Amino acid sequence: MKKILIGTHNRGKFKEISYLLPKKIKKVSPIKLKVKSPKETGKTFVSNAKLKAKYFSKFTELPVISDDSGLCIKALKGKPGIYSARWAKKYGSFSSAMKFILKKMKKKKNRYATFVCSLSFKYPRGKVVTVKGKIEGLISYKMLGTRGFGYDPIFIPLGEAITFGQMSKFRKINMDHRYIAYKKLKRKIKIL
Ligand code: IMP
Repeated sequence: MKKILIGTHNRGKFKEISYLLPKKIKKVSPIKLKVKSPKETGKTFVSNAKLKAKYFSKFTELPVISDDSGLCIKALKGKPGIYSARWAKKYGSFSSAMKFILKKMKKKKNRYATFVCSLSFKYPRGKVVTVKGKIEGLISYKMLGTRGFGYDPIFIPLGEAITFGQMSKFRKINMDHRYIAYKKLKRKIKIL
């Protein structure tokens, strides 16, 4: 495999997935192909990841990798979950969405949360393989750190003392939900 399409318009995700893939594979963005994102009509991370892989595959002869991911907060009944990106739109920005979450979490004793990632790989004109990765953590009391993307400044992985937003890029990329999913995918797709 010489090239792969990474089916996302999210720069943070594109960078992280690029880093996980072998260096020698050329990574192509849907932005370059002038392909827009599909509507995320699925009700689960798995169905949305599959939907994206199948959708992007219609526009290219390349293999496609895509993910659907998000932050699931126990005290908020699993929200924002599959709506993680949509909450940022709804509240105006990730910073506003995080402020909203911190306010909602103010009196909550249970700060347990997970970052979840469903990762799909689609062979050209072939089948889709989907796996899931999860990392457990706690919601911080304030936004900390400016690294990473999305909800990184409010997520402290279990066993760590700092948020993803405070962590070095390589440390985060080598432990997060996408990394865990990718390791599983690699076991199933030998060319990765
Ligand atoms: P979607 O998979 O395109 O629906 O977007 C998932 C959203 O979840 C992203 O826009 C981020 O807000 C959030 N998210 C997923 N993975 C991460 C991560 O590793 N760090 C921070 N936020 C994330």
